[in-house]
Amino acid sequence: MTKRVLVTGAGGFIGHHLVKYLVDQGYWVRGVDIKHPEYEASPSDEFELLDLRRFDNCLIAARGIDEVYHLAADMGGIGYITAFHADIARNSAMINLHMLEAARINAAGRFLFSSSACIYPLYLQKNPDVENLKEESAYPAEPEEGYGTEKLFMEEMCKYYREDYGFETRVVRFHNVYGLLGTYEGGKEKAPAAICRKVALTPNGGKIEVWGDGEQTRSFMYIDDCVEGIYRIMNSDYPHPLNLGTDELVTINQLVDTVSEIAAKHIAKQHDTSKPQGVRGRNSDNTRIHQVLGWGPQISLREGLEPTYRWIESELETAGRLPEPAETVLG
Ligand code: NAD
Repeated sequence: MTKRVLVTGAGGFIGHHLVKYLVDQGYWVRGVDIKHPEYEASPSDEFELLDLRRFDNCLIAARGIDEVYHLAADMGGIGYITAFHADIARNSAMINLHMLEAARINAAGRFLFSSSACIYPLYLQKNPDVENLKEESAYPAEPEEGYGTEKLFMEEMCKYYREDYGFETRVVRFHNVYGLLGTYEGGKEKAPAAICRKVALTPNGGKIEVWGDGEQTRSFMYIDDCVEGIYRIMNSDYPHPLNLGTDELVTINQLVDTVSEIAAKHIAKQHDTSKPQGVRGRNSDNTRIHQVLGWGPQISLREGLEPTYRWIESELETAGRLPEPAETVLG
């Protein structure tokens, strides 16, 4: 019989891509969110607009469902998550606690929780040439305030539900995901999308603003690797938290240079050190995921940024917002 799955956050970036992936795999998919996907229609079999902070809505969302991919959360880029600790932690805690319990009551077979690299202790992330973060390094805890604290608490809840109720849970710790159809402006966008937008909107020879001194480091995972990893983790027997990210470490300055190269533009950087830059360095240790799945994300940053940049550029072009070609501007 066709498996019936629920994707929460199906109007969001990762959720929408996951719905497409699961529909392609032959699942019957119900998508739930407070909004429809921003850039194209959802191919889900059913799409319901429900506020999952409410328990009654979570019960409706989980009815008749075999597996729950739980991605709904109040989240955004570094500017957003450092500014709204109370809102983010309260909204996401309500969504998560209610959705986990509703999935259990509806006898779903599995529940996958989308956690984050933001649960890792800040004291391990003070240098740009950071040691890669291993799953067991989460404790002693010092997570990102608000967003990371709430995620770490929910990881524990998933463990308690497994131990106390025998409820099958999976926990994925995402490290920066980017790609097509992701938010690229408005305050909730992440660094790769923000930089693609800024470079696209700047004429050749121009300058863009970069938050911090640009020497902070990160790894970035392309969305296709992300959805495949989610699916593999859900279907594995491994119930403990797993990193899902690449270990290709770059500085934000290098990220800007790669995007500029793709755009074939010379772009200077104006660093604004008054803006939030998050931890100084963060990278994923992928030893465990390779052991457990015999697989890890494999799409390089350059490979993934190319289509991402082209898509953001074409969106801006359609909106009539691209600058005049450089020859005209520079005279
Ligand atoms: P997103 O913001 O695009 O998607 C989250 C979705 O949740 C949004 O569509 C939003 O409308 C929905 N949502 C918010 N409040 C809701 C509510 N009350 N009821 C129902 N839906 C609600 O984010 P994303 O990048 O797709 O992230 C998906 C998950 O992965 C989140 O849990 C996020 O914390 C986690 N994550 C993402 C990244 C990343 O780099 N994108 C990194 C670490 C963790």
